[in-house]
Amino acid sequence: MHKLLRQIVKTGMLRSRPCPRRDRARDIHTSPPSLAEELGRALAVRHVDTGSCNGCELEIQALGNAIYNLAAIGVRLVASPRHADILLVTGPVARAMAAPLRATYDAVPAPKRVVALGDCACGCGVYSPNYATVGKVDDVIPVDVAIPGCPPPPETIREAFATLICR
Ligand code: SF4
Repeated sequence: MHKLLRQIVKTGMLRSRPCPRRDRARDIHTSPPSLAEELGRALAVRHVDTGSCNGCELEIQALGNAIYNLAAIGVRLVASPRHADILLVTGPVARAMAAPLRATYDAVPAPKRVVALGDCACGCGVYSPNYATVGKVDDVIPVDVAIPGCPPPPETIREAFATLICR
């Protein structure tokens, strides 16, 4: 017992050292103002499908696997626009999805960016504007980055996110 008490007195109170503050803006070589500098943390992406054929979604899903590993560059998908920094939109904007897309865009806190993914989101692709389609994403909300392709391959999408971080 005495030995234990002596040991406690000798050791004193131990506190874990605070972690050094990780400043993403300094980790990533950017020319200001970059999104990383504005946010100073990993980017959260909210995906909205406004009427795609699901081909683009398959490529988005592939970004989570061990090969493309989008999380490794600090980008992750989130379930709520209120937690998001980036809105990722796929598909032409179906008439029924125009209002929800605007509402989702409004729910993302500033500063925010919009990425239009796939030929349909960038310019209607195989769907020309018709009775069921309003048009491309840019016709409804402002788009910062357009990633063309039908569908764009995961390496292109990953590259675009890396560029977006450095903007
Ligand atoms: S761009 Fe191609 S894969 Fe993507 S939603 Fe349009 S048709 Fe489908």
